[in-house]
Amino acid sequence: VDDIAAREWPAFVVSHPLNIRYLSGFAGSTGLMVVTAGAACLLTDGRYHEAVRDGLADGSLGPVTLDPVDRRYDQALAACLGRIGVDRAAFEAGHVTVATLDRWQRAAPAVEWIPAENTIEARRAVKDAWEIEALRRSARTLSSVAAGIADWVAAGRTERDVAQRIDRALADAGFSAPAFPTIVASGPNSARPHARPTERAIAAGDLVLLDFGGVLDGYCSDLTRMAAVGQPAAAQRTLYEAVREAHRAALAVVAPGVKAASVDRAARQALEARGYGAAFVHSTGHGLGLEVHEAPRLARVADDEPGQEPGDALDWLAAGMVCTIEPGAYVEGLGGVRVEDDVLVTVDGCEVLTTAPRDLVIV
Ligand code: ZN
Ligand code: ZN
Repeated sequence: VDDIAAREWPAFVVSHPLNIRYLSGFAGSTGLMVVTAGAACLLTDGRYHEAVRDGLADGSLGPVTLDPVDRRYDQALAACLGRIGVDRAAFEAGHVTVATLDRWQRAAPAVEWIPAENTIEARRAVKDAWEIEALRRSARTLSSVAAGIADWVAAGRTERDVAQRIDRALADAGFSAPAFPTIVASGPNSARPHARPTERAIAAGDLVLLDFGGVLDGYCSDLTRMAAVGQPAAAQRTLYEAVREAHRAALAVVAPGVKAASVDRAARQALEARGYGAAFVHSTGHGLGLEVHEAPRLARVADDEPGQEPGDALDWLAAGMVCTIEPGAYVEGLGGVRVEDDVLVTVDGCEVLTTAPRDLVIV
């Protein structure tokens, strides 16, 4: 962890719990990490002291020194920075509220606070061997869960009922939690990309979109598959084939050194060529890891888009990144289609981690 602080700042204060977990292995909900050249302090309160001492003893926690917080985090942080003797500290601007920063400034008035963004997120985007294995396991397990689609989806059953069956199957497969609220969207609801399951009963002629994921050993997987109730109408088949083609087109360009926006463009051009350009209303994919939505974004990048620095390292794919490929098309009156897989960027292209069959499941 040394180079984070040593690179630009005398100290770097990490406050996002998943970033602390990534750097140290500490999985508590409350804590701060102060990283300096050659050392890292973990500030946390009495609820976690025993777990931290155990983790340090058995090696499951990284190279950190426990800095116990007795009362207030702002005062403990100020004391820690004072002991280290730094007058400048960077903080995670994307994760610190204005109120928290104000407290830190008042507790340590001599410290100059420097906002930093995406520092740890950029490192998290490229997975190490252990993380890749965890993501493979998560995606493989999710693919086995998807075998249940033909049993879950049935005319007369509500979307909510199907979603509950999926959530039970995720738990039975060993996932600690769904990675996000399970989406089951049928008929007209499938034309809304992020519909929540309703009491609508699935009916003959529906397209049914099922988007679900799980957390295994802390790492997320994310999959979308489609079912049709009865033989799909010709227009539904055409829509499905167009999205499959966009999915193939995107996968074909995934490789290290490729711009993330180029993957999005490949999917978008495939849908535009079939007249569904305006029906593709979201981005092509997102990174996967400790969070279900993390860097990189596989999206159209507008020059004036906030948060997108020109030349940002996360604009390019690199070996070891894991992301979703999930083009979709949503047509009022016909329904929506999305097909989503998880892929690992390898040195010579990509490895698709989710192996569930991609054909329309006809029930
Ligand atoms: Zn998804
Ligand atoms: Zn997704």
